[in-house]
Amino acid sequence: MLDLFLSVMPAQECAQVAVPEATEQAMRYYNSGNILWVVQQIWSLGVPLLFLVNGFTGKLATFSENLGKKRYFTIVIYLILFIAIYTLLNLPLDFYSSYIREHAYGLSTQTLGRWFDQYAKETLVTLVSSIVFVWIFYALLKKSPHRWWFYSSLVSTGIIFIMAFIQPIWIDPLFNQFGPMKNKQLEQKILGLASKAGIEHGRVFEVDKSQDTKTLNAYVVGFGSTNRIVLWDTTIKQMTPDEILFVMGHEMGHYILHHVWQLIICFAVLSYLIFYLVYRVSNVWLRRYQKQLGFKYLYSIASVPLLLFLANAFMFLATPIINDISRRMEHEADRFGLEITQNNQAAAEAFIALQHQNLANPSPGIFYTLWRGTHPSLRERIEFCNSYCPWKEGQHLKYAKYFKTDG
Ligand SMILES: [Zn+2]
Repeated sequence: MLDLFLSVMPAQECAQVAVPEATEQAMRYYNSGNILWVVQQIWSLGVPLLFLVNGFTGKLATFSENLGKKRYFTIVIYLILFIAIYTLLNLPLDFYSSYIREHAYGLSTQTLGRWFDQYAKETLVTLVSSIVFVWIFYALLKKSPHRWWFYSSLVSTGIIFIMAFIQPIWIDPLFNQFGPMKNKQLEQKILGLASKAGIEHGRVFEVDKSQDTKTLNAYVVGFGSTNRIVLWDTTIKQMTPDEILFVMGHEMGHYILHHVWQLIICFAVLSYLIFYLVYRVSNVWLRRYQKQLGFKYLYSIASVPLLLFLANAFMFLATPIINDISRRMEHEADRFGLEITQNNQAAAEAFIALQHQNLANPSPGIFYTLWRGTHPSLRERIEFCNSYCPWKEGQHLKYAKYFKTDG
């Protein structure tokens, strides 16, 4: 009788924050963003195809071979040429999407000089990491024509771990300045929350993103001893201390629940599948279109655009799966943030600040959710904040086991 009564009772209201409708400007940003995304997807497949037309990649490889003589130098020269042409072909779309458009919507604070500086550095990082990876990869391709996909997956798993480890200490500092938090009062509150979550000192950083953008964010990065939580200074400027504490609680959830680790494992598993599919399809295509492609063997460096095209295509197909996993992790991080701060009002208002400042659409469509929705929609997140507060009824908290009571 009691059970029946409880089950028909309305869900407890933990906060009453209404989800604001998207502004007209936010809807324009959302709709034009979707068109831009489609163009970007077509372009990411189209550019590698351009290298394959008329055997252009074969000619590029022959040129690199004549210049480099040895296989290692041939690979380096080919990659420099390939990435230079690739970057030039992508430059207009990249410039439009991350500079012109962001300024048009008042989201960017970046100067033209800084944009080019960042773009050049990104290209350089891509070039250096590609040379290392492609060199190993093509050595495996030549040594083991039937098993390379397996060995490459092993190597790429290792590389993902290494990249995750060095990203916060070697790569990210090339683009922005990271340091301890400037607002010491706020830092004390955040460190208090961190110690409640069992996170030791020195793991929270502030980054000067206000040089680049007006949008808000925070994230967890790194692996093992470089694992850390980074808070954008824009978030500190635009949110109230309680809202920031919830955001940090959310990030601490990612940290404590080992989401970086889990994502790396997901990518590793996915890389086996993608490398295998690339292996199967590339050999069929090479047999069928050898003349048009302009190279005979897959281990020829000329095969880069073919492998890239196939990898991009399979990655595109796998995106909804990755996004689904990501959305689940984000939801659990929201739960962790709510349980550790127990401030539903501030949490819901943090999402409203996010929606407002990032020009977000709180209720995106199904295709957006499948292919671009790395987080639950803001509507879902605000509604969760309004309805999730088991501590108010003395119920069990899913993540209480991680909380230190003496912190
Ligand atoms: Zn998150």
